[in-house]
Amino acid sequence: MPLHFDLLIRNGTCVLPWGAEAADVGVRAGRIAAIGVPGGATADHTIDAAGLHVLPGLIDPHVHLRDPGDKAVETIPTGTKAAVLGGLAAVFDMPNTSPSITDAERLAWKQAYAEEVAWCDMGLYVGGTKTNIPALADLETGRGVCGIKIFAGSSTGDLMVEDDEHLERVMRSGRRRIAYHSEDEYRLQDRKKLFKSGDPYACHMEWRDEETAFLGTRRLMALARATGRPAHILHVSTAQELDYLKDFRDIATVEVLVNHLTQVAPEVYETLKGFGVMNPPIRGRAHYDAAWAAVRDGTVDTVGSDHAPHPAAKKLLPWPDCPAGLTGVQTLVPVMLDHVNAGRLSLSRMVDLMCAGPARVYGVVGKGRLAAGYDADFTLVDMGRKQRIENSWIVSPCAWTPFDGMQVTGWPVGTIVRGHQVMRDGEVLGRPVGKLVKFQ
Ligand SMILES: [Zn+2]
Repeated sequence: MPLHFDLLIRNGTCVLPWGAEAADVGVRAGRIAAIGVPGGATADHTIDAAGLHVLPGLIDPHVHLRDPGDKAVETIPTGTKAAVLGGLAAVFDMPNTSPSITDAERLAWKQAYAEEVAWCDMGLYVGGTKTNIPALADLETGRGVCGIKIFAGSSTGDLMVEDDEHLERVMRSGRRRIAYHSEDEYRLQDRKKLFKSGDPYACHMEWRDEETAFLGTRRLMALARATGRPAHILHVSTAQELDYLKDFRDIATVEVLVNHLTQVAPEVYETLKGFGVMNPPIRGRAHYDAAWAAVRDGTVDTVGSDHAPHPAAKKLLPWPDCPAGLTGVQTLVPVMLDHVNAGRLSLSRMVDLMCAGPARVYGVVGKGRLAAGYDADFTLVDMGRKQRIENSWIVSPCAWTPFDGMQVTGWPVGTIVRGHQVMRDGEVLGRPVGKLVKFQ
């Protein structure tokens, strides 16, 4: 009797952990059953991936889906629909919603809600505060929890742990890797006085300057070393930090955002104004070059979008009244594929940053590589397809992207989540099948 699968992906080029190979992939019961399938095998569904690359389902480990919050900006249903249209099979969602996810009751609500409405799989961050430290050890091992998120410097929302005493107590509260927004809050508050409403948008990077980020990271590394608690420094934005963190690889992992690999100051503020304002800021060419060098030498573990939507009307306000944060979950993969085609990194390194990297940093179970027994998550990409990113493509209700008008080469044309095809050629298919990601 011939082999039979639920799903067969035929004729594609698979990006395996050990290199790209032409191989057919067989799926059974939501998991990869075979890589390399005999010609006579049959399946309930077959996808012809001729001319396409078959990647492990790509992961964006840094999104803010704003749910609960303002439905006119973003929700979990709309943000995960954007994710699968953009070729992502999983997203890890931040806790600074309204209200924030900081206790067992709100976490339980989000766990149940996500599995009803999400189009892709989800990991959930729990927010650390000065008052919930005793509960963090339990919260960080909750179902679907990718880790504790600490805002050591202020950004959107009211979550903050800025002083060394509370940061150390947080680090001594549990054992899993903690994800940090690293900017020194005291320096931020001091420097705020130097600016006034209506100053140029480029003042955003003067206010939140290089030393604000670097000082925050030095303080966190001193505490992480003292406590032995692993740290993941989110959205590292300065050459100084990328150099410094090379000496902390025993305890620290590193995220860089696609924006810091794509946009450069001062041009970004001249052309996009408030639509280029994010935290930490987009900086000058030397930091852009350092970010790419750190991608090439392995300093960087993960790349994320930091999808952080705000209403377009608020982004039009003068600086600094325009809120910081940019949309990005739908555009992360196309922009990264364009970087691959431009020769800035290999497709294998992109998969390392967006699959193996998040799996290693957060301790993901059963995702992050094409291998037998792993979840049948796939991103199918057409490396030759040329397309223009446009606001009209964006399904987040806020309906804008800082990459509007960008011509890219390389495009995600299929997303498969645990064997369910949820996107093909720009169409969302079926129903929301998202589940919580499993962590060690
Ligand atoms: Zn963020």
